[in-house]
Amino acid sequence: MAPSRIVFLMYHELELPGRKLVQSEPGYVRYILPLDIFRSQMRWLKDSGFHGLSVSEAIRYPQEPSVCITFDDGCETDLISAAPVLREFGFRATFYLTAGFLGTPGYLKADQVRELDALGLEVGCHSMTHPYLSDLSDAELGREIVDAKVQIEQMLGHVIEHFSCPGGRYDRRTLEIARRAGFRTVANSEFHANTASTSPYELGRVAMLRDLLLEEFGATCRGRGLWKKQLQDRARRSVRQALGNRIYDKLRAALLVEHQQ
Ligand SMILES: [Zn+2]
Repeated sequence: MAPSRIVFLMYHELELPGRKLVQSEPGYVRYILPLDIFRSQMRWLKDSGFHGLSVSEAIRYPQEPSVCITFDDGCETDLISAAPVLREFGFRATFYLTAGFLGTPGYLKADQVRELDALGLEVGCHSMTHPYLSDLSDAELGREIVDAKVQIEQMLGHVIEHFSCPGGRYDRRTLEIARRAGFRTVANSEFHANTASTSPYELGRVAMLRDLLLEEFGATCRGRGLWKKQLQDRARRSVRQALGNRIYDKLRAALLVEHQQ
């Protein structure tokens, strides 16, 4: 039997009618799906015979057709919008929380984090303050990775095993500190499916963008066409490396605004 390849999907806040998003700039909004689009994607998965798995389940690489469902940032819509849909279809998921944002407007509060956990949905960590980890000193990395883990663990009373990198940025030190802190996996946002031979500290994920059509979503879940996105992404990364994160972000924001006009 062919080894199991699983695509890890990366979601963020969901958009509800009449509800303000936690951020409004175009670079943020392009990663935000309206709730009904998210629901139609989950419906497609169910109708197509896919299982929706948490990271802990996915890294066992079961043979059944599956995707891993992940959410970054810890927005309140994780609990009030995503969780009910996931439960409706019998799916699991992993929610990576930004520890320092919890309790601020639009993000989960401590009791909501406990509620998510009690529903059997998996809680992971997405740093303390959402910086680009590759820009930080070792001491700052300790706070962003180790202290954030401890803070969420104290909230839940059990171990947190999975970490995802803000903005997908990481380097060797990031992975080493995460491993030493006791994380079993680190997810980034590189466009590739994962298999049993993928390093658990370099799990690729495919960002779910607002303008993704349902047929493209289906192809992505089957792992088709990821190489094209991977090529585009590599080109973007090399531009980013040449410019540095700060200049790259300014340029990207300017281009996105222009694109919207
Ligand atoms: Zn994030």
